[in-house]
Amino acid sequence: MNSTFLQRRYLVSFQSRRLPHIFTDVLVIGSGVAGLRAAIEASRYGQVILVTKGQVIDSNSYFAQGGLAAVMDSSDSLASHVADTMATGCGMSDPAVVEHVISAAPDHIREMREWGVAFDMGDNGLSLGREGGHSAHRIVHAAGDATGRVLTEVLVERARQCESIKIFESCFALDLVTDPPAGGSGASCVGAITYHERYGLQFIRARQTILAAGGAGMLWRESTNPPIATADAIAMVFRAGGAVSDPEMMQFHPTTLYVAGATRSLISEAVRGEGAFLLDRKGHRFMTEYHEMAELAPRDVVSRAILQQMAQTGTTHVYLDVRHLGEEAFAARFPQIDRQCRHFEINPGTDLIPVHPAAHYMIGGARSDLDGRTNLPGLLACGEGSCSGLHGANRLASNSLIEALVIARRCGQVAGEALAAGNGQYAKEFDWANAPSTRTELDLTDIRNSLRSLMWRNVGIVRRGDRLSETLEIVNFWGRYVLDKEFYGTAGWEVQNMLTSAYVISECALRRTETRGVHYREDFPQTDPVWARHQNVRRTEYQLVVE
Ligand SMILES: Cc1cc2nc3c(=O)[nH]c(=O)nc-3n(C[C@H](O)[C@H](O)[C@H](O)COP(=O)(O)OP(=O)(O)OC[C@H]3O[C@@H](n4cnc5c(N)ncnc54)[C@H](O)[C@@H]3O)c2cc1C
Repeated sequence: MNSTFLQRRYLVSFQSRRLPHIFTDVLVIGSGVAGLRAAIEASRYGQVILVTKGQVIDSNSYFAQGGLAAVMDSSDSLASHVADTMATGCGMSDPAVVEHVISAAPDHIREMREWGVAFDMGDNGLSLGREGGHSAHRIVHAAGDATGRVLTEVLVERARQCESIKIFESCFALDLVTDPPAGGSGASCVGAITYHERYGLQFIRARQTILAAGGAGMLWRESTNPPIATADAIAMVFRAGGAVSDPEMMQFHPTTLYVAGATRSLISEAVRGEGAFLLDRKGHRFMTEYHEMAELAPRDVVSRAILQQMAQTGTTHVYLDVRHLGEEAFAARFPQIDRQCRHFEINPGTDLIPVHPAAHYMIGGARSDLDGRTNLPGLLACGEGSCSGLHGANRLASNSLIEALVIARRCGQVAGEALAAGNGQYAKEFDWANAPSTRTELDLTDIRNSLRSLMWRNVGIVRRGDRLSETLEIVNFWGRYVLDKEFYGTAGWEVQNMLTSAYVISECALRRTETRGVHYREDFPQTDPVWARHQNVRRTEYQLVVE
C-alpha cells in the first residue's frame, strides 16, 4: 500500500479563485535570522511579504546563546575555520559551500555591527569565545549569552523600517503552491496558501518565494527548541515535490537543564568552553575517559557519553560543574543561564547543575545550493529549514546563525536578480480537492506527544534498524488516519507536518546503514566510505525517491 505521506499534496482543499489573493514580488516564510535577513535584502529589489506563524520574535534564532563563528582575529585564519568545519562534518560537508560561508562570515559580522548589533567587547576589540570543535577563539557573542535576542531585535527593527516589507504575524504557511499544482519535477513555486488568524485562508502569489521556516526540534520529546520548530519546512517542501537532503542528521545537544516537568533550556557549549566539567552522580569527571578533548569533544560524542554514564549509574541526568569558575564571573558571562538556574533554586556558584541531552539542530532540510536555490524554480531556501551542505554530518558549534546570514543575503539577491530578469510568474487559478475522510475525531495532543516520545526512543541519539523499522510502521499507521483529514487550525497542520517529517527522517535514518557524525547506528557502528554522500529524498505521487 502507498504511504499516505506520498498521496497528500495540499493539506486543505480549496478553489483558488474563491480565496482572497495577495500579490507580491517576494514571499518570505519565517521570521528568524534567515527570513529577516533575506527579506531585508530582497526589499532592495521589490515588494516583500514576510509571513510568520507566531509573533515576529518566535523563532529558534531568538534563543541562540553562544554566538556566531567567524575569523575576527589576526591570530586565527579562514583555513583553520574551514578545516574545523570540514573535520566536524565527517566527510559530508561540501567544500565549496564551506569556503563560501566561512570566507563571507567576517564581512557579515561587520555588517551586523554597522546595523547596530552590540557584540560584546574585550580589551583588544571583539570578545571572542571558544566552543567545542573550534581550534581558536572565534565565537562572537552579544549580551553574554543572549546573542540570538540581540541579533533578532536589530533585524526586526530594520525590517520594520523598510517600507517595501510587510510583516504578517499569526500567519501560518500551509503549503507551497506550484505550477502545475501537483508539483514534482518541472514544477515551479508560485507562492503559498496561508492561514491568518483574522482573515482565514489566503493565497499569496509571489514571483519568488524564500522558505526560511526553521527546524524540527519539537519532533523529539527532549528538545532545546521553542514550540514553533515543528518541521514545517521539511514537510512543505516534501509535499511540493522538492528535494529534502539529509533529514536523518539531527544534532543532539549534550547539555540542557534537566528539571523534570520544566522546559528544557539550553546550557550553551560556551559554558564548557569556559572550563565547566561534566560529573556523574558519584561526582566522577567522566569525559576524559571518552575523548581526548574531554568536555570539548564533538557534541555527538559528549551526548552518547552522557547516555552511557547515565545507564551505568542508573540516573536520569548528569551534572555540569561550574563552581570553580566563580559565582560572579559565571553570572557576568552567562547572565541568562545563571537566571534560569536560579529560577529553580540552583546557585551555579555552589551547586551542581543537572543536565541531559536533547534534540537541538536539524542539519537536513530543503536541498539548496550556496545561493539558496532549490530544485523547484522560484523557490529559494535558507537557514535551519534548508540544507546547503555546510554542516555535512555534524554541525560545528555557532556555524548556523552565520550560515543563515550568509545564505539569506544571497537568497535576497538571487530573488532580486530573478525579478530583474523577468523570471518568476503568478499562478494560474486552480481547484484542489482532497477526498473526504470517513474516520473518527482525533486527540491531537495525544498524537503529538506519542510521536515525540517515539522519536526520542527510536530515532534519537543511538539508533538501530529494527527500531527504525518499527517507527516507520507506527508513523505510517498514524499517518493513515491523521493525513486523510482536513483541519482548520494550526494544531492539526503542525501534527500533519510533524508526522510527514518523521516519516522522511526515519526512512533516511533506516537507509543510512553506517555511523557518521550525529547519525549513530548501534547495528552499524563503523563509518562506511560508500556513505560519504548526501541522501536527497522527494515524493512522486506513487513512490518515495531517495537518491
Ligand atoms: C536554544 C538554542 C540555542 C542556539 N544557540 C546557537 C548559537 O549560539 N549559535 C548558532 O549559530 N546557532 C545556535 N542555535 C541554532 C540557531 O539558533 C538556529 O539554527 C537558527 O537561528 C535558525 O534560524 P532560522 O531563521 O533558519 O530559523 P528560526 O529562527 O527557527 O525561524 C523560523 C521561523 O519560521 C517560522 N515558521 C515556521 N513554520 C512556519 C509556517 N508554517 N508558517 C509561517 N511561519 C513559520 C517560525 O515561527 C520562525 O519565525 C541555537 C538554537 C537554539 C534552539
